[in-house]
Amino acid sequence: MEITRKNPNSFLTKTNGYLQGYSYSLNPYVGCSYGCHYCYVHKLPVALFKKKEWGTWVEIKDEKPNQFLGELKRAKKKGKVTIFMSSSTDPYQPLEAKELRTRRLLEVIAEMPPDFLFVQTRSPLVTRDIDIFQKLGDRVLVSITVETDRDDVRKIFSPKAPPIQARINALKKLNEENIPSQAAVSPVLPFSPNFTNLLRNATKRVCLDDFFLGDGSGGRRSQALGLSKLFSQIGEEEWFSPENIEYVKDLFLHVFAKDQLFISRQGFIPPDGSHEE
Ligand code: SF4
Repeated sequence: MEITRKNPNSFLTKTNGYLQGYSYSLNPYVGCSYGCHYCYVHKLPVALFKKKEWGTWVEIKDEKPNQFLGELKRAKKKGKVTIFMSSSTDPYQPLEAKELRTRRLLEVIAEMPPDFLFVQTRSPLVTRDIDIFQKLGDRVLVSITVETDRDDVRKIFSPKAPPIQARINALKKLNEENIPSQAAVSPVLPFSPNFTNLLRNATKRVCLDDFFLGDGSGGRRSQALGLSKLFSQIGEEEWFSPENIEYVKDLFLHVFAKDQLFISRQGFIPPDGSHEE
């Protein structure tokens, strides 16, 4: 693993509309040690520029004193601030336990809360920061990726990601502490018949997304990543189809109410779905 450090010009990045409803994305790191095989980021310029295998390098964004606080203040003066954390890294990847980069940014956010903060991760380490999420009340939504309950499937698609049971336990903990949270079954991977019940016992909100609705190109980017081969490898080809999401949605509607189930980007947008420039 190659770890480097850099002081960025800014932490907040204007989204220019690519993340619906968000004015800024916030990435505490560049690169991601989880290196999921289906990750779209490794085909984006930020990763291609590095010329190193995705998942083998991380750049830690070091902060100058009060840099992020100043940015947040200026952003808030300009209008509504809705932040997506993170769009191209996992803010709770393993080195966060020691680096506390995400926690430091969250402490500033708690001091000067934006209108809304969305936190996306697949790591149970996120529960470490429950004290900060509590300060944000309903201005935060914490989303934990749980694409399947089958560890054999996880090992094929995202072998370096945390075990599934640990993520489900983290969802339970957030729920018990009344932190607005959801399971992001994103992207949907082959799961066992008990999966919906497992999630029902852990969370009140689920977002389903797949390789066709969620890749921004109707499935072309997913095809380019060679994902159909991974489905063939486990003999589950029928799960890699645009129609499969309807079947999955029906399964979830047996245990979740309609207003607890969100499809694709509906599960990721802020409550009012928009922001002012
Ligand atoms: S955790 Fe997210 S950002 Fe990291 S490799 Fe996996 S999909 Fe990509």
